[in-house]
Amino acid sequence: MSIRENIEKTINNAEKLNGELNSFLSIEREYALNRASEVENLSDDASLKGFAIAIKDNICTKDMQTTCGSHILHNYKAHYDATAVRRLKDAGAIIVGKANMDEFAMGSSNESSAFGNVKNPWDLERVPGGSSGGSAVAVASGVVRASLGSETGGSVRQPASLCGITGLKPTYGRISRFGLVAFASSLDNIGIFGQTSEDVAKVLGVIAGRDRNDSTSADVAVPDYLATISDDIKGKRIGVPRALFGEGLETDVREAVENSIENYRKLGAEIVDVELPHAKYGIAVYYIIATAEASSNLARFDGVRYGFRAEGSHELREMYRKTREEGFGAEVKRRIMLGTYVLSSGYYDAYYSKAQKVRALVKRDYQTAFEQCDAILTPTSPSVAFKIGEKSDDPLAMYLSDIYTVSANLVGVPGISVPCGLSGEGLPIGLQLVGNFWSEATLLNLGNVYEKEFPLGAKPKVFAD
Ligand code: GLN
Repeated sequence: MSIRENIEKTINNAEKLNGELNSFLSIEREYALNRASEVENLSDDASLKGFAIAIKDNICTKDMQTTCGSHILHNYKAHYDATAVRRLKDAGAIIVGKANMDEFAMGSSNESSAFGNVKNPWDLERVPGGSSGGSAVAVASGVVRASLGSETGGSVRQPASLCGITGLKPTYGRISRFGLVAFASSLDNIGIFGQTSEDVAKVLGVIAGRDRNDSTSADVAVPDYLATISDDIKGKRIGVPRALFGEGLETDVREAVENSIENYRKLGAEIVDVELPHAKYGIAVYYIIATAEASSNLARFDGVRYGFRAEGSHELREMYRKTREEGFGAEVKRRIMLGTYVLSSGYYDAYYSKAQKVRALVKRDYQTAFEQCDAILTPTSPSVAFKIGEKSDDPLAMYLSDIYTVSANLVGVPGISVPCGLSGEGLPIGLQLVGNFWSEATLLNLGNVYEKEFPLGAKPKVFAD
């Protein structure tokens, strides 16, 4: 099949399935087909020549919409590409569309999108996870092999787990954030979904590395992730924090993850016990720091510089107020209020400053644990995909979905979710491996070997031709 034929098939699938799944907010037929013809002429060294990819709608793409799943940016088009997007294009990848998401990446179910739920292709009554639910479903439904998402607190790993695919959050600073719309800058990362760890590795190799447009992107050499992806994992030490396998964990998830530990042992890994005594504070710390930073980052959406402006105001402050009142959804407003509260003069020390101290303790736990092991294994999410509406009226229950994922963001270390089994109802379950700084190659190696030896052996109900 030529590149153009392949892209045409991808676009047809995206359009056909979108009615049911709502994973794309825009599908770029004309752009992608034109680009396919251009890419045919690229040298075969271009490592992603003709590779179709979907991009989360909070990552800027020149001349395409970037809505962040929000009414306030419903008509916003960036005039530049995010560095990750530019690198993908230079390597010959073809963007086929922008993926649906929770509004401003705030959520764990995709229900906070201003443009409708995304549905889980394994069961259309269930959520795909969030906030990168559209990017996850674009891959899980077989439309594309890989997509970009973003992570502030688990938003790639958790939907990967709920959709039965692989999702990587790299080390903070591994991928430039230039062009990623800021939510909580000290936690934000671009992450990658793939049908396999190999596809994730391919994309990571292209987009990782220092970028002078992002001063927090690190000047650390980018290894050849594919070169070590099939290495024997014999002797690799996997740490298991047993204390985290307690309350709130669904039985099917516990069993599947326990089983995956045994499978790793069979593959030659050494299993060691580790402790993360402060991990239990992860959710509280995360929801203070993330909301504090969000309340400041989202101040820029005022109706003047970007997107939507409310009509009928008579003076400037009223225009700001009406624009933000009409433009933001309920979850975003809740976060801005929480964040403003924890930063206010009377409460700063009790909340924000305390949270920063506990963040340092969580980091210390991980540093100690990594003296004993190469990666820490836990469930990715305490439950399988839940029903649409099941948690949408209970923010705290929703926030608890992030219990296993947020610590890696607080610390800045990489994490991967790999499919490891199916629940009694046939819904996918993911295992999470968190590694030390810059250990993406190890995580991809552990992920790839697992996928090859213990494939899921099932496909979602809704799947591309
Ligand atoms: N569930 C987290 C939140 O709502 C996920 C955020 C993210 O990683 N973008 O804040």
